[in-house]
Amino acid sequence: MEKYKDIGLKLTPQRLAILNYLDGNKEHPSAEDIYRALLKRFPTMSFATVYNTLETLRQRGGLIELTIDPDKKRFDPNTEPHHHLICVKCKRIVDIHGDYKLPIPNGERAGFEIIGNHIEFYGICPKCKKANSL
Ligand code: ZN
Ligand code: MN
Repeated sequence: MEKYKDIGLKLTPQRLAILNYLDGNKEHPSAEDIYRALLKRFPTMSFATVYNTLETLRQRGGLIELTIDPDKKRFDPNTEPHHHLICVKCKRIVDIHGDYKLPIPNGERAGFEIIGNHIEFYGICPKCKKANSL
């Protein structure tokens, strides 16, 4: 929660619940996931509240938006550079913390100074692999 303190959001109980849900969350939830998880506690909360809170957090650097699931945007509270493993069956996303040195040939660099990268590895997670072999 520490990192959200300086983000300058007025902390309503609903927003606080969203922040709590995100804090340390490694599941890469979508706005829908968060909305559904909190609906029981906040039956009057609108989806727009969840979405707008996530969008504000993203704009202020408290969240990363992942576009690797074509069905829905996923959010990552871990803003440290890292990579992802994606299950093509259940869309589970798992962090990879490795430093991959990927040299880009000079001719391909288009004059860019490279400041980072994000690698997406695709595969089938153990759960889906097991379900498949039954
Ligand atoms: Zn899977
Ligand atoms: Mn991640």
